[in-house]
Amino acid sequence: MEKIKKYAIYFVTFITICFLLPALLTTRKKEVSSQIEELPDNTEAAKQEEQPSKNTEPYEYKKYGTIKLLHNKTGEIEELPLDTYLYNVVSSEMPADFELEALKAQAVVARTYTIYQISHSNGKHGEADICDDSNCCQAWISKEERFEKWDENVRESNWNKITQAVDSTAGKIITYNGEPIDAFFHSNSGGKTEVPVNVWGGSNFPYLQSVETAGEEGYTQYSSSVSLTKTDLINKLKEKHPELEINFNSDDAIKILEFTDGNRVKTIKFGNIQISGVEVRAVLGLKSANFDVKIDGENVIFSVVGYGHGVGMSQTGSDSMAKNGSNYEDIIKHFYTGVEITEIN
Ligand SMILES: [Zn+2]
Repeated sequence: MEKIKKYAIYFVTFITICFLLPALLTTRKKEVSSQIEELPDNTEAAKQEEQPSKNTEPYEYKKYGTIKLLHNKTGEIEELPLDTYLYNVVSSEMPADFELEALKAQAVVARTYTIYQISHSNGKHGEADICDDSNCCQAWISKEERFEKWDENVRESNWNKITQAVDSTAGKIITYNGEPIDAFFHSNSGGKTEVPVNVWGGSNFPYLQSVETAGEEGYTQYSSSVSLTKTDLINKLKEKHPELEINFNSDDAIKILEFTDGNRVKTIKFGNIQISGVEVRAVLGLKSANFDVKIDGENVIFSVVGYGHGVGMSQTGSDSMAKNGSNYEDIIKHFYTGVEITEIN
């Protein structure tokens, strides 16, 4: 009897370590992400749901011919061919005037993301595979809604370009060691991408390394700035750090202490506190954690480079590469290290 009890305790401990602990960690990770991603490029939020799990079943690609899409507003579940779903995703995620090869790269990334998500969602949408909320899964808007946002004279040509990007890459996804990757992407890397651990903590992925891309400075997403009064800055930082005190007469009142491999601010000192660049980005609504800061009279000015978390494929970097002659495979293999482009079936 004692022995059985002992084994029962071992068993419960084992279950806790295997399931409950990762679940707790995952939840925490999501909270962090939603703070960071209250920005227009909210597609990012979706890109960091879960770490690859060893407990998933082998991928049965054939079952992804159709998917069940949950429309969040109505609660309706629509079953539709994977690539039909992707037309609307790609048209929501990337400007249609980007190069065709960049749109093709986005199509393959979106297809990969969809399949990765279906395999790792652990039934979070019940009967449905994926939802249309960009804060949860991938951006999806209807063709009618999309058309309303495009000028009438480019509607048909834009749509044709998007469908061509999806159709010409039909069945193709990105794999690493034979498994679909977690295909993170963002708007503009500022010239160099970031590794996940510097954004969300946790662990890195072998296929998400920091890589450099030329030509991103030519896009509007490349540079931005945020100016606050000293008082505003203090008030915002004090919400989380009530102990904050800054003596602006001191030479090192605000000082960047350390940079990440991807040129972003790793740690910065404001008076008597030290916080991460990612936290500064979230609190002040900066477009990225790649910033410089200067004090100008009563104001504090943050000059920001790039847009988004910086992990995985840069969309403007893709477009820039395509303009210089790269095809979608070159683009994908540039941003995701050591990957293959594989046929689903
Ligand atoms: Zn969802």
